[in-house]
Amino acid sequence: MMPLRRPMKLLACMFVLAALCALQSTVAAADSRADAPKAPAPAPAPGAGGAAHVLVITASDPYLPAFVEIDGAMRAAVVQRHQRSVVWLYESIDTIRLGGAAGQELAEVLARKYENVRIDAVVLVLEPAVDFHLGYGHRLWPNAAAVYHFVLPRYASELPPGARLSGLPVDIDFAGTLRTAFALQPNARRMVVVGGVSPFDEAQLEGARAALLPYRGRVDAEFLVGLSPRAAAERLAGETLDTIVLYTSLFRDAGGQVYLPREALATLSAASGAPIYGVFETYMGYGLAAGAIELFKERGERIADLVVRALNGEFASGPATEQPLASRCLADGRQLARYRLSAAALPAGCEVRYVEASFLQRYWWQSLLALLALIAQSALIFSLLLQRSRRHAAELGLAAQRVEFLHASRLAVAGELTASIAHEINQPLGAILSNADAAEMLLESGRVNREELLQILADIKRDDLRASEIIKRMRAMLSRRDIERCRFSLNEVVEQTATVLRSEASRRGITVDYELRARHADILGDPVQIQQAIINLMLNAFDATTGGPPQDACRVRVETSDTPGGVKLSVRDFGAGIAPANLARVFDSFFSTKRDGMGLGLPITRSIVEAHGGMIDATSCEVGAEFRIILPMAPVARGPDQPMSSAQ
Ligand code: ADP
Repeated sequence: MMPLRRPMKLLACMFVLAALCALQSTVAAADSRADAPKAPAPAPAPGAGGAAHVLVITASDPYLPAFVEIDGAMRAAVVQRHQRSVVWLYESIDTIRLGGAAGQELAEVLARKYENVRIDAVVLVLEPAVDFHLGYGHRLWPNAAAVYHFVLPRYASELPPGARLSGLPVDIDFAGTLRTAFALQPNARRMVVVGGVSPFDEAQLEGARAALLPYRGRVDAEFLVGLSPRAAAERLAGETLDTIVLYTSLFRDAGGQVYLPREALATLSAASGAPIYGVFETYMGYGLAAGAIELFKERGERIADLVVRALNGEFASGPATEQPLASRCLADGRQLARYRLSAAALPAGCEVRYVEASFLQRYWWQSLLALLALIAQSALIFSLLLQRSRRHAAELGLAAQRVEFLHASRLAVAGELTASIAHEINQPLGAILSNADAAEMLLESGRVNREELLQILADIKRDDLRASEIIKRMRAMLSRRDIERCRFSLNEVVEQTATVLRSEASRRGITVDYELRARHADILGDPVQIQQAIINLMLNAFDATTGGPPQDACRVRVETSDTPGGVKLSVRDFGAGIAPANLARVFDSFFSTKRDGMGLGLPITRSIVEAHGGMIDATSCEVGAEFRIILPMAPVARGPDQPMSSAQ
């Protein structure tokens, strides 16, 4: 049996060993469930394929605006800087607001939750999250690199030497914020600090108290801690610009009510009589006047650097603490304007946000258009006013000129009338005188011839009548400028003129040749005036003939002839002629080259001719001069006149 008993013994030993092993593993499993989280799935080597898992543990509300902003910037930067895709996992242990501590139970829950997930890196936000990692991280995610942020520098400096963490503490710059506040309100004598009672709030209040120490003698400080936002706002309503209000954070009031700090700030700001200063960027736009503030986007990007390094296997061997970010001066333009604070007093480089654009900045192109339109309109109005004043001045000048002109014109008319009458009746008066002389001589001789005397008296009477007729027509012409129109023959008027001037011509020893060849010599007008015109031309010809060359000195030729649509009368002499320089001036009033001349004969003649619708011109010939009148022919009403030819 011995050979049989020995194998049996061996089997029994093996069974006992197996049972012991099974018992041990059962005990170990039970022990592990009771005390510590189960070891997670082994992490792959860094840089291996597949997505990386990053767990973010926040010891507060992960949806706090600050964390949302930091997280967004961090994730965007990681996506850019890390070659693997990242699965982001989130846990909140929220002890900051609710108190208590995360411990064993949470660790067990997380162990089960992430049993089958490889955590490559953890991001720990706020001190309680770091505490939790230090307590349980080595068992929950032993291969994950840990990155912390938003912890106070003092806390970071006290991390245990063995903790394999890297992180970016936050230096909440109350001192810088107070400097900014005093720069804006140098005369402030009072300070009110408003804060809550949650652990985070208390940590902030502690920072504020430390920053206030240098101002102890300068301002009286009052702390409104644990009040509800509404109650604190009521207290701030009575403050003036002598007060600086420093708002830390208000997560929880003394009654246990939980708030979002920036919404609490909005309530305070709406009522506050004094500007409010603070330290977090997410307060900007909610009533903060200014502060020395860390930019959350910058923080997110710096955390992303640490996370990427962690995912690349650059684990810290002990706690590695980055230098906190420098704060920036930020101010709210609307709040500065509301409290009449000068942006010029802000520290150099301070960024002023929410600067309300001025009316001109907002509506610059509309304003520009309006300005241009205004300028154009003003220019138009100005030019119209200028025009009006010029027109007014011109009208005044014109009126004055008109008055002067009327006066001058009256004088001229009077003068012209007088001169014309004198000129025109000179000839009949001369004739009358000659006839009177002749009668006297006849009577003195004693040979009284009754027939001859009667003829002389008849001539005197005719000349006298002609003189008075001349005066009458002259007055009519000069006053009303109209003529009495009748149909008459130009040839007949020339014949009558020949009779009138016969004795004058013979007195001067001048022969007048009449060539009345016009077949259609009827014209419409005033025969007395036309006769006057002819007499003027003939007397001028007589005058010129006196100084002419000897052969033709005593000849004057008067002609009528037909011309298209009219009758032409020409008076030609063989006298001195007209100097070229005078040719253009002979029709001007008062132009005369004669010693006793009046210079009115030709202007009157032209007036008469033009009043009859005709025209007159003068030509200086090789010997003597020729004056031509063309008058419109009257409509044909009777048979053509027979041409007449005679010489006297
Ligand atoms: P007046 O006979 O009083 O000088 P008129 O008006 O009749 O005035 O003539 C103006 C001027 O025209 C004369 O002084 C003369 O110089 C010039 N004139 C007119 N008729 C003739 C003519 N037939 N020959 C040369 N000169 C003439």
